[in-house]
Amino acid sequence: MPTFADVHGQGRALGVLRAALAHARLHHALLFTGPAGVGKRTAALALATALACEIAPGQGCGACATCTRIAEDRHPDVITLAREGAAQIIPIETVRTQVIAACAMPPHEARERVFLVDEATALPPAAANALLKTLEEPPARTRFILMTVAPDQLLPTIRSRCQRVAFAALSTAARRAVGGAEVEPVVRAAQALLDAVDRGPDHPGSALGLGQGTGEKLDAAAVIELAAVELHARARAAVARGDLGAARLAAGRAGILLAAHAAVAIHHGHGGVSLEALALRLQRGGA
Ligand SMILES: [Zn+2]
Repeated sequence: MPTFADVHGQGRALGVLRAALAHARLHHALLFTGPAGVGKRTAALALATALACEIAPGQGCGACATCTRIAEDRHPDVITLAREGAAQIIPIETVRTQVIAACAMPPHEARERVFLVDEATALPPAAANALLKTLEEPPARTRFILMTVAPDQLLPTIRSRCQRVAFAALSTAARRAVGGAEVEPVVRAAQALLDAVDRGPDHPGSALGLGQGTGEKLDAAAVIELAAVELHARARAAVARGDLGAARLAAGRAGILLAAHAAVAIHHGHGGVSLEALALRLQRGGA
């Protein structure tokens, strides 16, 4: 049952949400930003729980029927808009039927109705525009929590109507602590990918056992994203010490990774993007 206690390593983001809750100043449209896997969705469910739970208002008990139904996506007033179909978008019809039509009626039973948009960049422009007016002037007792890994790709009009809550990228140590066995292979693969790139074209990723021999089904998008976050950090550090060559190299490689990340996202993780091939491309294109 997600409550705020289930969100780890995000003290700042939770501080913002808790303070707003305590002072009844929670913005009606929130935009949670940050890399995949850092707790945005858990925090969004925790917030919906805190808003709806009658046992522990403002916190969520995590155990009552209301909290349970939210956790199991069965609560009529907590509605998630997720990617659909082969295109993996949130179509305009979904916005019309699940949001705009629903907003004509008051919430079924909770004090507030909460809409969660799992990845806001999955809203094509027409769907985003259809959402705009409701986002700007929602009916009473209505709240939106949009989540995204790429806030810069959202329509500026969507961004400007939301209060942004930034979720930090987790350090490797924090990821280990939070994700345990599930995240560990992703961290290892991201590290192996970067090692392969650093060692140059004579050491292709396949020779390093990238994703081999473990039988684990890796989330390629998560691996690529973690590696890109690391490269961005390297680029910033290089700029700080005045090494513009190294900064350019790291930023170039991060760019290649982000393009690969978009390809994986479009194919919903089934694009057959090989991390070994990606390592080779990085060695050639990023050098
Ligand atoms: Zn509860």
